[in-house]
Amino acid sequence: MSDPIIVVGAGPVGLTCALELARRGVPVRIVDRLAEPTTESRAIMVHARSLEMFERLGLVDELIRNGVRTTAMEMHSDGEVVARIALDLVDSPFPFSVTIAQTETERILTKALDEHGVSVEREVTLTGLTQDEHGVQAVLEHADGRRETVGTGWLVGADGGHSQARKLVGSALAGRFKGEKFLMGDVNADHELDPHSMYTFFSPHQGPLLVFPMEGDRLRLIANIATDDGRTATQEWLQQVVDERAERPIRIRDARWLTVFEVHHAQVPEYRVGRVLLVGDAAHVHSPAGGQGMNTGIQDAHNLAWKLALVHSGQAPATLLDSYHAERHPVGAQVIQFAGTLTRVGTLANPIAQKLRNKGMHLLTSLAPVRQAMADRTEETAVAYRKSPIVVQGRGDGKLHAGDHLPAAGPELRAALAAVHDHVLLTVAANGTAPAPLPGTTARQLLVGAAATAPTGYDAVFQDPDGLAAARYGLPNGGRIMVRPDGYVAAIAPLDENTPLHKYQALLQA
Ligand SMILES: Cc1cc2nc3c(=O)[nH]c(=O)nc-3n(C[C@H](O)[C@H](O)[C@H](O)COP(=O)(O)OP(=O)(O)OC[C@H]3O[C@@H](n4cnc5c(N)ncnc54)[C@H](O)[C@@H]3O)c2cc1C
Repeated sequence: MSDPIIVVGAGPVGLTCALELARRGVPVRIVDRLAEPTTESRAIMVHARSLEMFERLGLVDELIRNGVRTTAMEMHSDGEVVARIALDLVDSPFPFSVTIAQTETERILTKALDEHGVSVEREVTLTGLTQDEHGVQAVLEHADGRRETVGTGWLVGADGGHSQARKLVGSALAGRFKGEKFLMGDVNADHELDPHSMYTFFSPHQGPLLVFPMEGDRLRLIANIATDDGRTATQEWLQQVVDERAERPIRIRDARWLTVFEVHHAQVPEYRVGRVLLVGDAAHVHSPAGGQGMNTGIQDAHNLAWKLALVHSGQAPATLLDSYHAERHPVGAQVIQFAGTLTRVGTLANPIAQKLRNKGMHLLTSLAPVRQAMADRTEETAVAYRKSPIVVQGRGDGKLHAGDHLPAAGPELRAALAAVHDHVLLTVAANGTAPAPLPGTTARQLLVGAAATAPTGYDAVFQDPDGLAAARYGLPNGGRIMVRPDGYVAAIAPLDENTPLHKYQALLQA
């Protein structure tokens, strides 16, 4: 068996990556310098696109069961609701966010990883790294002082904002390191807030207060502060800020976690440095506004893992990994811009600018397309890789584009697609007449919309009496869609044009 891939860091991103590799039978080691998982709740929102990913990992039901569904965000100012965005506008089988502490998300991922026979190696710290075209030599320090030098083909740096892997490959975050400061609390409180909404209270004289109801009477509170003057976060300080800014009564009973932090907005220039892949906070850091940090990171891992599995097993050349950077770097850059804009607009100090912001927000969010765009941005359902070097667009009506996430078309087909770890070639029959399966592909072949007698050679056949799939995929006259293991469309083509599918196969091997 070949050397295991090393994943450094057992935060949500490293765990997702290790789990995705283990599910594909790739040998993997995951190490973390901490003796125990963190007890800090940190990222608490799991957005719709991440829930779609968790469905593929078989973990979405557990996640939903352990969290609270959030279906709206409300912005308040001067006693009025200046804007309300319904998150259930998004086109997803999970049209909501799940509010759940990062500790719980990590627990669920760790349990699944254990079930695949991989345990996190704790108190193991990456301290050294060299690489050449053949492999990586990593130095791992153990709790007893033992230094282990280990050779591996690929190392994934999922070791967070202060990433050692990043430093050791000579990379650095580039961006803005003097940012806004926030007082944060994870508390139990008496309140009468809608548990399915998150709130922003714009205070005329101070910065905004963000409130996220969690399970039971637990709340996440994040308040922008002008300066902390080195002050320690306390429950009394947080209560005072809440009393000044919240336009709803909130009485903190006890605090589980209190902290003060400053936001940075930065990203590495390259997500792939030779045989080292940077993911999650190791590759990008930004404001928690919009709650995108962890979501972007775990989607990095999901994008990377299937490619790494193909490369590790020799089914694709190493150049396939360049598409990880090509697809995920622009997503990271957009998230940094989005979170930065939200933070700047939210923390305006000038009263005239604040009034203009509130009026503008009210006006803009009265427009349905703006509400839709904000919901899509927040839930990350707008993420697509249309400009990716490894997607191929064939002739079609353009409704569904190569690089888009495949939309759901009925629960049975969705479940079948989510259950496959590999590529799926979806053939949509034309008016009930099914073509023969495509020869020469290793993808699982599913047929949709066939008459009762379907040609042999398909792995599964689904009826589509109302033409739902054909309509959703923009293939009224039938066609084929190559779906990647991460649920995105690799290639799309009408039935009489197989070139895009062959071209995609060739690109994987290029
Ligand atoms: C105070 C705070 C509040 C936040 N709030 C939000 C929020 O509301 N919403 C949101 O989306 N995001 C939030 N985030 C960000 C979110 O927590 C991160 O985006 C997410 O944790 C990134 O996951 P990760 O796995 O990339 O990194 P991390 O979770 O940081 O995990 C990195 C892991 O690597 C390990 N490690 C580090 N160095 C080494 C080494 N040399 N060797 C071995 N192991 C190592 C660490 O021990 C750690 O377990 C917050 C972060 C902080 C700090």
